[in-house]
Amino acid sequence: MPPAGALKSSRRGTLRPPFCLDTRTAPMSAVDENIHRLEELFAGLPGLGPRSASRIVSELLTTRRDEARSLCEALSETLRRVHHCPRCHALTTEPVCGICRDKTREEGVVCVVETPADLEAIENSVAYKGGYFVLMGRVNPMSGVGPEALGVPALLERLAREPVREVVLATSYTAEGETTAHLLAAVIKKHHPQVRVTRLARGLPSGVEIEYTDAATLAAAVAQRR
Ligand SMILES: [Zn+2]
Repeated sequence: MPPAGALKSSRRGTLRPPFCLDTRTAPMSAVDENIHRLEELFAGLPGLGPRSASRIVSELLTTRRDEARSLCEALSETLRRVHHCPRCHALTTEPVCGICRDKTREEGVVCVVETPADLEAIENSVAYKGGYFVLMGRVNPMSGVGPEALGVPALLERLAREPVREVVLATSYTAEGETTAHLLAAVIKKHHPQVRVTRLARGLPSGVEIEYTDAATLAAAVAQRR
């Protein structure tokens, strides 16, 4: 006769190890602790999940060991030297970033972006030759991210110091991006009313058919037609 507890469990259909379905109570993974830690670190990066993290770690530790060493050295060296450019807040390993050092760029226009990736995307368009200011985020009252955390005072100081005639707000067309743009427009208008504030136009993406375009994009494209 089995003990009462065991009988109860089996009636409920509870599975016991090694057939445990609950990962929280599963026995310790057979994966090496250090390797598992690496996988967790990669899985925490933007755009990566547990499966891709596991594949990356596996390749770095086997067929791509030289790349793994280069990655370690480059990351370590860059981490040691990287800081925000004092003029535009972009990340740089030089005292002042390459764009701010470039004397051929138009000084009178500053494009405000959320991230270095956004800056790179606009640079890749080859349509803009002015300066930048990188917010490193966007306003988020719920997380306590306000204008100070985004370096807005430094942007205002730059507008006072340099002959800027236009600020292009290139924040995302998301709720937070729009809030950030409205806030920036209001602050700039208050402190530097002579500076023209513009917003990136919203339009239809290249190669997209009208009938497959979402209503919000179409509405903006119609409103901003020229
Ligand atoms: Zn810079």
